[in-house]
Amino acid sequence: MLSGVSLGQSYASALPGLYEPWQAATFPDPQMLVLNTALAVELGIDPDALDAVTLTGQALLPGSAPIAMAYAGHQFGGYSPRLGDGRALLLGELTAPDGRLVDLHLKGSGRTPFARGGDGKAAVGPMLREYIISEAMHALGIPTTRSLAVVATGEQIARDTLLPGAVLARVAASHLRVGTFQYAANTGDAEMLDRLARYAIERHHPAAFEAPNPYFSFYESVVQAQAELLAKWMLVGFIHGVMNTDNMTISGETIDYGPCAFMDRFSPATVFSSIDHGGRYAYGNQPVIAQWNLARLAETLLPFFAPEQDDAVTMATDVLRSFTDRYDAHWLAGMRTKLGLPEHADRAIVDELLALMQAQSVDFTQCFRSLSSALRGDPSRARSLFSDPSAFDQWSARWNAVRNSDTRASGEVATEMDAVNPVYIPRNQLVEAALDAATNGDLAPFHALVEVLQHPFEERAGLERYAEPGIQDAPYRTFCGT
Ligand code: AMP
Ligand code: MG
Repeated sequence: MLSGVSLGQSYASALPGLYEPWQAATFPDPQMLVLNTALAVELGIDPDALDAVTLTGQALLPGSAPIAMAYAGHQFGGYSPRLGDGRALLLGELTAPDGRLVDLHLKGSGRTPFARGGDGKAAVGPMLREYIISEAMHALGIPTTRSLAVVATGEQIARDTLLPGAVLARVAASHLRVGTFQYAANTGDAEMLDRLARYAIERHHPAAFEAPNPYFSFYESVVQAQAELLAKWMLVGFIHGVMNTDNMTISGETIDYGPCAFMDRFSPATVFSSIDHGGRYAYGNQPVIAQWNLARLAETLLPFFAPEQDDAVTMATDVLRSFTDRYDAHWLAGMRTKLGLPEHADRAIVDELLALMQAQSVDFTQCFRSLSSALRGDPSRARSLFSDPSAFDQWSARWNAVRNSDTRASGEVATEMDAVNPVYIPRNQLVEAALDAATNGDLAPFHALVEVLQHPFEERAGLERYAEPGIQDAPYRTFCGT
């Protein structure tokens, strides 16, 4: 049964010291740009209970007591002890009909005590961008925060030019970040850190309480969740762009869609973010960076692992090292499904295809999708993607040899491949065009794109242009969207 919103405050009750109570700024003329009614219904909320006034924090929802959360973070490797929600508020938590507890959170709702030099605001374009990409990620089956609504504030905000302002309402399994643990550890208050760890265990990995050392088991669960998440990103060509420790969740959900984008042509060195000069967060670096971030998490938890620091470090290092195997196992299993390979197929055939794609600058998404047609007897779609199709033919012969050990019917395998190789991803040129139009008041391209991306695996007539890579004469650039 759908009802209005009723929010709880479990984070605020459990974790004083890790937030500041705060209110949203006043906005002149809040107008709903997009409301995710399907998500509202999934959360048991009557969409009519959500309006532009409450979703910009102008009026409090029942049970709401907004807070700005505190966290620290390593940004591009450098440590900032105090970041926190500079322009965001946690309104409270709600319980979905399936029992899940989720955060309802606003982004762009005005300056907070953590705002540092920022204006606390967000522009329509970047907030709709988060909406498009997070909802696309969800449809692709990738754990992510979700976008509930984007509301225009009626304000013009100063960026390179004046831009229409907006607030994003999002939901998340929680907003606990690696940086939340760093902040708590940095206060030197061991009791607070303990409360944070226990809160995180209860909320995300309750089975850890049954383990001999719940903190260690919890850490292992976070490592596992992130290894799985990173494999999922890599399998669809997603580049987060700003994998700072404050942008990595404890839940294993993707969070903070800023300069993120999907790769077109396969190249591990692909970077879109205009501020990532060294390529720290390049596509191919992402698993290593996740592991680096998880090392920062381990550092905060060492005192809970074992009484002797050396023992604690050994325990942490073992789990941290296991990230690589956990990640590889997921990635390889995913690649086998993408290529229709039998369960124990060697990874060589995958690596050979990737090398070929890289050498010939082949579109990542189109290439994988085309392989099911090849399996159904028509290799022309795949061949046409390669400037030297003979190299593909040679690879294809080896691929067929590997697949020959498979007992499943090829039609069945092709169907399974189509269920994991998307036709439609948020193509950069389409995202940009939709955001430009929306910034100028036309939401039609945005809605059309969001609709296509809700069914990424289902090829539909008339949507050919949504499957096309962009023209890549000039490198695509993304911005942090502040
Ligand atoms: P991000 O790179 O988006 O994850 O943001 C990093 C930090 O900067 C977070 O603490 C944000 O709250 C803060 N921040 C980003 N943009 C603004 C803004 N316009 N005003 C205040 N704080 C901001
Ligand atoms: Mg962030």
